Amino acid sequence: MPEVHSLHDVFVHELRDMYNAEQQITKALPKLIKAAESEDLREAFETHLDETHSQIDRLEQAFDLLDEKARGVACDGMSGILSEGRMVLEDGMPGPIRDAALIGAAQRVEHYETAVYGTLIAWAKAMGQNQIADLLTSNLQEEKNADEKLSQLAESGINDSAVHGNGAAR
Ligand code: FE
Ligand code: ZN
Ligand code: FE
Repeated sequence: MPEVHSLHDVFVHELRDMYNAEQQITKALPKLIKAAESEDLREAFETHLDETHSQIDRLEQAFDLLDEKARGVACDGMSGILSEGRMVLEDGMPGPIRDAALIGAAQRVEHYETAVYGTLIAWAKAMGQNQIADLLTSNLQEEKNADEKLSQLAESGINDSAVHGNGAAR
């Protein structure tokens, strides 16, 4: 991290970290879309890929409001979460089991993002950056919705299929 004189400096650094994290996610989601067997799961990933592009736009608006250049700094947290998820893509798992594992990998991503946005929103509010807080709150809400949607899919058939075989096929 460059020299830090104020919370503003840490805030900008963390925004750049998240900007990079969201970009990593736009590269990972197409692989999850390809790997998913359940059509509903595939659609959930597709929706969240669209949302992720909007999230990147909102982060760019936040940089604009701060008069800072929109650029990323490597997010090691997201790299780590995504490289753990790669195992799911490589293994020759049967469809429903793979879907259950994909959901688990994706929910780690959503929870990581939820944690970071929660902190960034609190800091933005503390610094009186209410417009930025609103932009980040939109991103946070999409992450929470994505997480809930994934839980719902897991619990409304995919986990059962993973345990009992292809019975509740979709
Ligand atoms: Fe995101
Ligand atoms: Zn990070
Ligand atoms: Fe997300």
